[in-house]
Amino acid sequence: MVKKDMEIVKKYQKEMFLLGRANALLNWDQEVYMPEGGIKGRAEQSAFLSKLGHDRATSNVLFTSLKKLMKSRTIGKDKVMVDKLYKGLCKSRKIPHSLVEDLSRTTMIAGPAWRKARKKNDYSVFAPYLQKIIDLKIKEAKFLGFKGHLYNGLLDDYEEGMTVEELKPIFEKLKKGLIELLRKIKKSKKYGKKLKLLGRKYDAEGQKFFVEDVVVRMGLDMKKSRIDLSEHPFTTRFGVGDVRITMAYRDDPMFAFLSTVHEAGHALYESNLPVKHEYDILGDAPSIGLHESQSRMWENNVGKGKAFWKYYFPLFKKKFKLSGNFEDWYKEVNSVFSGYIRIESDEVHYCLHVILRFEIELGLLDGSIKVKDLRDVWNSKFKEMFGIKPRNDVEGVLQDVHWSFGSVGYFPTYAIGTMYASQLYNQMKKELKGIDKEIGKGNFSRVQKWLKEKVHKHGSLYLADEIVKKVCGEGLNPEIYLKYLNNKYGEIYRF
Ligand SMILES: [Zn+2]
Repeated sequence: MVKKDMEIVKKYQKEMFLLGRANALLNWDQEVYMPEGGIKGRAEQSAFLSKLGHDRATSNVLFTSLKKLMKSRTIGKDKVMVDKLYKGLCKSRKIPHSLVEDLSRTTMIAGPAWRKARKKNDYSVFAPYLQKIIDLKIKEAKFLGFKGHLYNGLLDDYEEGMTVEELKPIFEKLKKGLIELLRKIKKSKKYGKKLKLLGRKYDAEGQKFFVEDVVVRMGLDMKKSRIDLSEHPFTTRFGVGDVRITMAYRDDPMFAFLSTVHEAGHALYESNLPVKHEYDILGDAPSIGLHESQSRMWENNVGKGKAFWKYYFPLFKKKFKLSGNFEDWYKEVNSVFSGYIRIESDEVHYCLHVILRFEIELGLLDGSIKVKDLRDVWNSKFKEMFGIKPRNDVEGVLQDVHWSFGSVGYFPTYAIGTMYASQLYNQMKKELKGIDKEIGKGNFSRVQKWLKEKVHKHGSLYLADEIVKKVCGEGLNPEIYLKYLNNKYGEIYRF
């Protein structure tokens, strides 16, 4: 009996994963190759595969088998998988079909509305759609019925186990520390210097060499991966033997280079997840925040670090015929500046962008912030935190695509990942003696192996915070990140 139910559970999960990956391939093609004329047909193909996946996920056959397995005491090693799957299904079964359909219909038209609003640089074009999305998300959160803040049920979709009650004091500490650090940086004589080395055009052909070189040094197996061009860089997996990243060239060579390092960090995680769980829920990362910690540790802690540039600067210098010394280059790579756009932000400002969105999302859910006032709320909060006021909506409230998808509760994962990254990096440096010397020679292999052993191989057998606790001895802690930033930027800006 148990055996039969287990077979059903495994079969349904495998089909869900296969459908999901076929859909991911359609999305990848849409971003990389598809001509404009393909959009209508692609939307139908994609919706059909999504429906097949959804039918499996919500099937009564699967749910009945899972319930039986939950009661059985003889499932042994599969218990974690069964528990996790059951918990996830119970969560999604709390939301009525009509609400799921309403959300999907609304987000389908909210995307084009968001793009139109950006074109017109006018938030009021998007506001009615956002209002509908927020109303539906409030309904969804109420159906989920999590303890504590209404936001908890939504946050749990991306960061399982994390709550507002735990996160709020952490973000408050982080915000205070970052504003204090920025005050010191902005007082420094070194602040606000014009970029001499990076502030010019670098040819794409030269950039290509470094993009291709760095991913291999990081440990990406190019027989199981590839790099293509798309407007926004992303990583996607079609199977453990096929994990792809995309990138884009800009004049500033750091965009292509460091965004590729970032995506390759995600890709390494995806490639190293446990093969035996390829078609079940344990073969994925336990949270978006932990995923982001992998990309951000490579991009920031390693890729903007001194040791890394000890290796790459002489090569950049030669390739692009730069005149300038290492110290100047290192400072420019890490220069701090007040900007409006989250994805263009430096390490010090980055989490403030995230905290701003977190505070707004909480307010939208508990009703203390109204959608119609959002432009003003955004601008005044921005001024308060960054000291500058967005000049228009595109560089303010309209800059992120997330809300138009109905993703509310996603933003915190960026800051959670950034903090986890520093904690893991700190621990890695303690355990791997001489690692900076190796990185300085272009040998990054021990970093990759360490992350595989400590983080990747677990899949989602544990929650994200449990994995970090196992590795670092404690869960999410903003102090390590603040200490890392203060040391690094204190040296660059001399305070
Ligand atoms: Zn990322």
